[in-house]
Amino acid sequence: MKALLTLPLLLLIAGCKPASESPQTSTTKSGKPQVYVANYPLKYFAERLGGDSVEVHFPAPADEDPAFWQPDDDTIAKYQAADLILMNGASYSKWVDHTTLPDEKVVNTSSAFSKDFIEIKNATTHSHGPGGEHSHSGTAFTTWIDFQQAILQAKEVSTALQTIVATEAKAEIEQRLSELEKELTSLDNRLLVVGKKIAQAPLVASHPVYHYLARRYDLNLKSVLWEPETVPDDKAMEDLKSILSTHAAQWMIWEGEPAQESVAKLKAIGLKSLVFSPCGNVPDKGDFLSVMKANVEALETAFP
Ligand SMILES: [Zn+2]
Repeated sequence: MKALLTLPLLLLIAGCKPASESPQTSTTKSGKPQVYVANYPLKYFAERLGGDSVEVHFPAPADEDPAFWQPDDDTIAKYQAADLILMNGASYSKWVDHTTLPDEKVVNTSSAFSKDFIEIKNATTHSHGPGGEHSHSGTAFTTWIDFQQAILQAKEVSTALQTIVATEAKAEIEQRLSELEKELTSLDNRLLVVGKKIAQAPLVASHPVYHYLARRYDLNLKSVLWEPETVPDDKAMEDLKSILSTHAAQWMIWEGEPAQESVAKLKAIGLKSLVFSPCGNVPDKGDFLSVMKANVEALETAFP
């Protein structure tokens, strides 16, 4: 009954909207097209390529893995109302399975290489952060640490942005894309060189997020299920030792800066530590490119 009574009022309010305001766009006071993204790499690409022409939003909390993050209803409504929604694809944002986004606004930035996705089988369940238990079974989603795939994603971002900006901004976006592509190509070439130097020497990783890195740069890598901020307990060390018994690695690749105690524990069994951050969320310092450069340098330093 209440709903029936309020309906005419809603119609009245809707009727008062200025005729110039299009119901199709969600532009704010800034007047700029609103872009919502699924992770930090896409935020970086959209901001760098879009410049002042767009407003980019990435609402995931800093302490959560955006891949396993569940936005609340208000946040989902903001995605739904955006002018452009940039998704990572490769089953990255689990939350989209349970919600409806407007198809015409959604761009899946990894669609160009979906035939090359890596399927992970029988991964065990574990948890990190407030997101609860999860498994890495299914499609590997850290697509951008194969820098050729990152370039393809940046190209999708560029194409998508050009559909929502003013005509005069399109050439600038193209120009910025070619600069970004140069930088990513340079990092790609450096990693190909490092990969050759590593020459299939066994490596271990703290978490199973490096599938595309390993494939592109020919790394012989096995993973445990550790977190950089958690010092491995006896059980975790046993898991690692069982991997090392057939996979004699001398380096552990961490997703983030590990605790000193962890580094010491690994050192005691002959394992050195380096950081290669996938940078799925906003970094504490620097930006996507500076973090990726530091990652490449860490591998170059370890394998001179
Ligand atoms: Zn995990």
